[in-house]
Amino acid sequence: MAAIEAAYLQIPLSVADGYSFELQTKKREAITSSSPTVGSEGCSQEPSQSSRGVTIGDIEDVAVSRQANGDGEAKPHRPHHRSLCVTDLTALEWCEKQVEFSITRGKPQKTEAMKAGSARHVELEIEVVTRVEVQVLSREDSWAIRLLNFITGARQLQSEGLTRELPVLGVIQGCWVVGIIDELQLCGRDGVERPLLIDTKTRNRPTPPSEPQKRNGRMQLMVYKLLWDNLVTTGIPFDLFFHHFKLQPLHSLSGDVRGHAGDLYIGSNVQTLQDIVPLFSQECLLFPKAHESLLLRYEWQADRKLLGQDEFPFEGEWLELRLQWHLEYWHGQREAAYVPEEELWKCRYCAFANICPAMEAGTKCSQ
Ligand code: SF4
Repeated sequence: MAAIEAAYLQIPLSVADGYSFELQTKKREAITSSSPTVGSEGCSQEPSQSSRGVTIGDIEDVAVSRQANGDGEAKPHRPHHRSLCVTDLTALEWCEKQVEFSITRGKPQKTEAMKAGSARHVELEIEVVTRVEVQVLSREDSWAIRLLNFITGARQLQSEGLTRELPVLGVIQGCWVVGIIDELQLCGRDGVERPLLIDTKTRNRPTPPSEPQKRNGRMQLMVYKLLWDNLVTTGIPFDLFFHHFKLQPLHSLSGDVRGHAGDLYIGSNVQTLQDIVPLFSQECLLFPKAHESLLLRYEWQADRKLLGQDEFPFEGEWLELRLQWHLEYWHGQREAAYVPEEELWKCRYCAFANICPAMEAGTKCSQ
């Protein structure tokens, strides 16, 4: 059977030397072009942090260019993804209309600043993990790798106090959401050692982020905390998971995936996705909820100087309302909202400004 994609198992550097498979530290381009995704599940594909770099939330870095897909008029946007990525949610927080344009007209091309951001995330990632390329033959393989990478990252967090690029998933307001947490550090505060969730944003100018950029970064980390806390308290409802993603729990995983799983988890006998379920669930139970504080780091791309840190508290009520609002649009219950008046400056950096009705009219809808 032909491989449907290549994916990467993450191996902590501390154990990489003893690992029997040939390790391949990928260059950024290689990771970007074939990073592990669950794209076949319909998510608009949250790439690894290393391939993501600057998100749409760092829109000041986005050049006014886009990949046209052709047909002019925007189609009514009613996406039917099986899951959402965390970056989909932050993109909606930036501008729903821009997300709609990205879907109907094609995503804006990556700029040099975005590529530099991606390269920086690769550097951060390979400080603690390396990757092994694995051939994926089925959607079950793809999900198996994601779950195995979570287990590996969680064990690294437990033993070394830090991990990066940790894949997480769960159900938020009835939607399956997937994401990759940039960094987790075990950190003792108030007598309890908990994971502190951290995200590094790179900037191409040595200036502090704007309020909307900070808000996007904050929302991203808050959603990660929600996913993490759900995982370690209630776990994944695997019956629903298999049903929702139309996966066969007893489908035999590829030899590549089984071989790697056997090497990584000595004593386990992983043959199917179902075999990974107890490993995953046991791992989740070992951790407490994440800290209520979350940390954003801003770095200047030119010299990696720290421009500033934003430590802020998790705001559950605010997050719930924002997610509720955006999901109304996502589920087709209302039209996409434009940026509010005080954030019209975003339009200057928007790849779709020349076709956006908000710009044509010189007015906008507010949320
Ligand atoms: S021009 Fe402004 S309102 Fe229109 S899609 Fe772009 S950011 Fe949103």
